[in-house]
Amino acid sequence: MDSTKKLDLHCHTTASDGIKTPTELIDLAIENGLNILAISDHDTLGGLDEAVEYAKSRDIRLVPGIEFSIDYDDGSFHLLGLGIDHRNEAILKRTESLQNARDSRIYHMVGDLKRHGIDIPVEEVLEESGGGVMGRPHVARVLIRHGYAADMTEVFANYLVKGKPGYVSKERISLEEATSLIKDAGGVSIVAHPASIRYADMEEFEKKLNVMIEKGVQGLEVFAAMNTPEDISGFQSLAEKYSLIISGGSDYHGDKGEVLGSYRPGHPIPYEMVYESVFSAI
Ligand code: AMP
Ligand code: ZN
Ligand code: FE
Ligand code: FE
Repeated sequence: MDSTKKLDLHCHTTASDGIKTPTELIDLAIENGLNILAISDHDTLGGLDEAVEYAKSRDIRLVPGIEFSIDYDDGSFHLLGLGIDHRNEAILKRTESLQNARDSRIYHMVGDLKRHGIDIPVEEVLEESGGGVMGRPHVARVLIRHGYAADMTEVFANYLVKGKPGYVSKERISLEEATSLIKDAGGVSIVAHPASIRYADMEEFEKKLNVMIEKGVQGLEVFAAMNTPEDISGFQSLAEKYSLIISGGSDYHGDKGEVLGSYRPGHPIPYEMVYESVFSAI
């Protein structure tokens, strides 16, 4: 197979908290020489009509996706649904309430920041989201603009995370519900950046993974920026042991130095491995 081929199976657009519109992202992906691109916005199918339509006229394979925030154990994690029907009624209906909860959460976040002496206008946050599904990065960008932090890393070190000013948890769906929605929409369920899950060691992760598999998980995003090289080899071994799909993505938002087609700058997503694994399943 052609080793110069590139893919990226986890990206965001202005439909949630990315900075490029679906059309702009597809153009950028083509400029970067990508053959396959998945758009997986937070809790929404909002960008996919435009993306699917536009991709038809361009030389790229567009994979419709979504990234759900899952309520899990004492915490949460993100689940990717890849290869879904982007007009699926059940997902469209279910994501409505998740989106409403995200909207009202923004006001609580800005209010909590204010109580801590950090004053940003909520109107600017709303404007920042441009009508897309709202998330912490929209608040983060306004914090940066107002001089409260130099960049995204600094924002998430000091604000908007548990125990810091501006943190407000959000409504999330259960793993069982998300995997069943994804399955019914013709897609596959993949744990996004699994290193974000709390576990002591790979043995403990394996136990958690077993429960997740029972609840419908079919794959792991082995290649993700958050995963260390040790995580990557650990997740890959587990994926092989349990016949799980191996996926990879940049989690492109556009303002954290991400590079399309690389799970970390300088580390291209291995095309053949991921292609064979994902596309034999969707
Ligand atoms: P939300 O879905 O509103 O809770 O926001 C989640 C998004 O916030 C993620 O997709 C990231 O883009 C961003 N985010 C969360 N934690 C961090 C972090 N530690 N550093 C940079 N970005 C983060
Ligand atoms: Zn995001
Ligand atoms: Fe995520
Ligand atoms: Fe993401």
